Amino acid sequence: MKTLVAQARSQFLALNQIVNGQSLVYLDSAATTLKPLVVVERLQRYYAYESANVHRGAHYLSDRGTENYENSRLQVAQQLGAESSDEIIFVKGTTEAMNLVAQSYGAHFLNPGDEILITEMEHHANIIPWQMIAQKNNFVLQAVKVTPDGELDYEDLRKKLTPKTKIFAVTACSNVLGTINDIPTLTKMAHDVGAVIVVDAAQWISQEKIEVKKWNIDFLAFSSHKLFGPTGFGALYGRKELLQKMPPYQGGGNMIAEVSLEKTTYNDIPFRFEAGTPHIAGAIGTTTALEFYNQFDLNEVRKHELALLKAAEEKLKSIAGIKFFGRSKTRAPILSFNLEGIHPSDVGQVLDQQGIAVRTGHHCNQILMNRFGIPGTVRASFSIYNNESDVDRLYRGLIKAKEFLS
Ligand code: PLP
Repeated sequence: MKTLVAQARSQFLALNQIVNGQSLVYLDSAATTLKPLVVVERLQRYYAYESANVHRGAHYLSDRGTENYENSRLQVAQQLGAESSDEIIFVKGTTEAMNLVAQSYGAHFLNPGDEILITEMEHHANIIPWQMIAQKNNFVLQAVKVTPDGELDYEDLRKKLTPKTKIFAVTACSNVLGTINDIPTLTKMAHDVGAVIVVDAAQWISQEKIEVKKWNIDFLAFSSHKLFGPTGFGALYGRKELLQKMPPYQGGGNMIAEVSLEKTTYNDIPFRFEAGTPHIAGAIGTTTALEFYNQFDLNEVRKHELALLKAAEEKLKSIAGIKFFGRSKTRAPILSFNLEGIHPSDVGQVLDQQGIAVRTGHHCNQILMNRFGIPGTVRASFSIYNNESDVDRLYRGLIKAKEFLS
């Protein structure tokens, strides 16, 4: 039987603390989720009793570490609906995954004049790696427009996604607007013009069941810390046929078959892409984080989080001068807004003084900020551990911020 969402809160000890004289309200899960006790304890156990290097096989702890590390790869493959664990490459997170695909696939298989298509709602992690290879190799980088409601402009997409497009790199869920894009449809559209699709699932991973194989996705990346896992760890899924032809991204230990001064032959996938000692604790902690997350009914999680989003929207819209950004029909529990005439970082500061943690600024989406003609927003994001009282505290905190800053 699945565990009830209402019971989740007790797993997050961070919520028991006092910040600036008040109990903490954490509304910054889109930046990183809090970590449940089971994950914290698992990491402690690894460092206390199990710490050893993997893939070296000379002793008990090393063997056990390797088993746990590779088991994590299997868990991640299952979570994403991949065909085999060889298709899962462990990386630092979504950012490193995008750099890997750009450098190892993009820089090798595209020709000058080829086009890379992104969108105006991309996080910098899904812009800059493409811009870097485009500038160096004379590829053309284009971005699909975003509508005033914060959805992808499909008319513009159809104009820009052409047989010249070789890579379509798109977020499945905007970290600013909450917009959830229709990845199965976008994948089909990319394939129809002969492009590969690269999906940024950093926010999506906590929202929907992902099925890379079923939907025929070419590359997809996520970060564990956005799904109750450790920071500095994530995974890249790549379709086997693509990964097999890609050259290594970094050189070093673990990624080789044979080395001489003249020449190196490389290990098979996925190890070819994992140079050096990996983030072993990250992998082990991710297994526990996935187990934690999977004990809940995903529909119940979505219902809970979207109810909070709706309640927040309803309450906050009574505040004079508030403007929301992002009104997509399919949303993640992310609420971006500004108070007229007040800088978002000032709002964030006054909320922080009341123990309320939100994110303010451009959220690593400067292209999107330019699109809306704003310097930044205040962003409240909700997770499994938030409740109605958090919404109420946010509302009261904003009333105070308005009084204080107007
Ligand atoms: N993409 C999106 C949509 C994100 O929200 C984030 C993190 O905020 C990233 C990419 C980058 O993730 P990381 O910093 O874990 O690599």
